[in-house]
Amino acid sequence: MKNKETQCVHPLPISDKILTGIVSPIVLSTAYNYMDTAELAYPGFFSTHNQNRLGTIVSELEGGVWGIAFNSGMSAISSAIFSNVKLGEHIIFFNELYGGAWKLAKEELPKHGIACSFANKDLESFKSCLQENTKVIYLETPSNPLLSIIDLKEITTWAKEKNLITIVDNTFATPINQKPISLGADIVIHSGTKYLGGHNDLPFGAIAISDNRFKVPLLTTAKLFGGSLSPHACYMAERSIKTLALRVERQNENALRIAHYLESHQKIKKVYYPGLPSHKDHLIAKKQMVNFGGMLSFEADFEHGTSWHFLSHLLIIKPALSLGGVESLICVPTETSHLNLTNEEKERMGIKENLFRLSVGIENCNDLIKDLESALDFSSLDVVSSYLKVWK
Ligand SMILES: *Cc1c(COP(=O)(O)O)cnc(C)c1O
Repeated sequence: MKNKETQCVHPLPISDKILTGIVSPIVLSTAYNYMDTAELAYPGFFSTHNQNRLGTIVSELEGGVWGIAFNSGMSAISSAIFSNVKLGEHIIFFNELYGGAWKLAKEELPKHGIACSFANKDLESFKSCLQENTKVIYLETPSNPLLSIIDLKEITTWAKEKNLITIVDNTFATPINQKPISLGADIVIHSGTKYLGGHNDLPFGAIAISDNRFKVPLLTTAKLFGGSLSPHACYMAERSIKTLALRVERQNENALRIAHYLESHQKIKKVYYPGLPSHKDHLIAKKQMVNFGGMLSFEADFEHGTSWHFLSHLLIIKPALSLGGVESLICVPTETSHLNLTNEEKERMGIKENLFRLSVGIENCNDLIKDLESALDFSSLDVVSSYLKVWK
């Protein structure tokens, strides 16, 4: 078994037997001579179908038996669900979900006769959602935006007893920090748009499976629902993955340092980072993750409506959606990713108005801390009210 840094650079043998190039060739044809070949799909190349080299690369990193690529994380999610669940069946979702998955479960799946329940992170809550027609458990850990951690081993052990399929969205952790299949997951999903792509410029998705019984249904759904990725995008993804371990290791280090810094800052009320001993799920994170990732959130002690003031004083960290890239990005979930939740849902999830979600990049950490420091200095209520006094 190769170490992870080596595995990222050399995930698979190169298929270019003709020119012997050291990067994989891009194959553009959408039509192949059927008289000439027994195999119409070319899993070894970046061809124009879902089933290509990129899926295999992600599967290798996740320790799966097979993988498949998509043109977005959402198409990976919907293919994973629709290939395993049919009319009249039921899914239990963890109730802290990526916004798109949440909307799919709340609005779209019920239209197709698939019932959905939402459990808290503990096993008892999953048990209480179990129905006779339950087919799948759908999890995301660490969660967005509060970085809650689900005990994957505990939940998947129970799910296996009940003959349920466990799907895990591993986008936040990446296979560098967490391998859900080794913790009992059946199917792992990625929004490659985030860490795997890593440069905020490449939308894609991927699935890795732990057992070949999922392969044919998944291939069929993937093909019929569309969502395949262009050969050039596949190539960009493989190129990005070569630096995945390096990037994620720097992001882990930066995020931990920033989390400690923010935790000691008087204007910050609370920091959510699974690597902090103060995080409610720190011990589970320590048990199942190699490292704690590049995402963190914090609640600031700002007056209502002044978060813009803090954001507008950041010079390096950009107020932007998305995450996982080399550039540090920050957002206010109640104004962006979680805008459409009802007040009751926000309250239940504990997502407050003054909560900021930070996706830590690979910049020099001292520069990032300085950027936060000076924006926090500016953002105090005193500054705002002294401006107001001058105005009056
Ligand atoms: C962004 C994201 C998705 C959706 O991915 P797209 O590539 O944008 O479709 C799914 N899950 C998580 C955890 C995400 O952050």
